[in-house]
Amino acid sequence: MIPRGRSVPYYVFQSLDSYPELLHAVTTRRGGVSAGHFASLNLGHTVGDAPEAVEENHRRLAEELGIPKDFFVSPRQVHGNHVAIATKASRGSVVPDTDALITNDRMVPLLLRFADCTPILVYDPRRHAIGLGHAGWRGTVARMAEALVRAMSEAFGSDPADMIAAVGPAIGPCCYEVGPEVVSRVEQELGPEFLSNRKADGHAYFDLWAANERQLRDSGVGKVEVAGVCTACHKDEFFSHRGDHGRTGRFGVVMMLR
Ligand SMILES: [Zn+2]
Repeated sequence: MIPRGRSVPYYVFQSLDSYPELLHAVTTRRGGVSAGHFASLNLGHTVGDAPEAVEENHRRLAEELGIPKDFFVSPRQVHGNHVAIATKASRGSVVPDTDALITNDRMVPLLLRFADCTPILVYDPRRHAIGLGHAGWRGTVARMAEALVRAMSEAFGSDPADMIAAVGPAIGPCCYEVGPEVVSRVEQELGPEFLSNRKADGHAYFDLWAANERQLRDSGVGKVEVAGVCTACHKDEFFSHRGDHGRTGRFGVVMMLR
C-alpha cells in the first residue's frame, strides 16, 4: 500500500491507484480527535467512544477525501455474507444486516469499518462498478468474497476477469490464533491449508488473507493485491480487536466512483 493524505493519513493500493475515476482509502488510527483506546481516528459508532468525537472524525475524513460528510453509505455489519446494492438514494444511510455494498453510481462513497476483519475491495474498470466487503472468520467461511464478486456480476454484468481486487489490512496468520470451533468450520468449508500451527504450541492460526485471496482467484478475478499488513502486529497504526483485547476503535475503508 502507498501512504497518502495530509491532515488525515490513509493508504491506497498500487493496483487501484491508476484509475482516476476511482477514489479509495484505507484509514489508520491517525488524524482524528478520539482519546484513549479510540485514539485517534475512530470511525466506529458502537464501540463506546464519544459520539461527537466520532462525528468529528468522519468530518475530517470527508474533508480529506473531498466528499460531503453526509454522503457515506455504510452497512450495519453482522459477520454474514449478504451483499446490498447502494445507489444515490442510499447516501447518508445505514444498510441493515449487511457485510458488503456494491454500486455503479457515481459519488456514492461506501464506508466499511474494521478492527482485524478482512477488507475486500473490488473494482471493475470496464463496467465502472465497485464492491466493498467485510469478512472476519465467519464471513470468510461463508465465502463473502465470492458472494461479492457474484453480486457485481449479477447486478452490473461485470466479468470477474475485468475485476481488480484488494485484500486490506487484517489480522494475519502470525497472530490470528483460533479455537476448535473455528478450526472445524475452516476445515469443513475451506480446507486445512488455511490453518497452521506455526508456533509449535499446538494452537491453530487461521490465514484470513490467503483464504480471501483464494476465493477471489477461484471466482476468476483478474488481479488480486494483498496488503499483507497484520493489524495486530501494527496496532500502533491500525485498530486491532485482538491486539487491543477488545477495547479499541475502528478504521475505515472507503470506495467511491467519482
Ligand atoms: Zn501479526
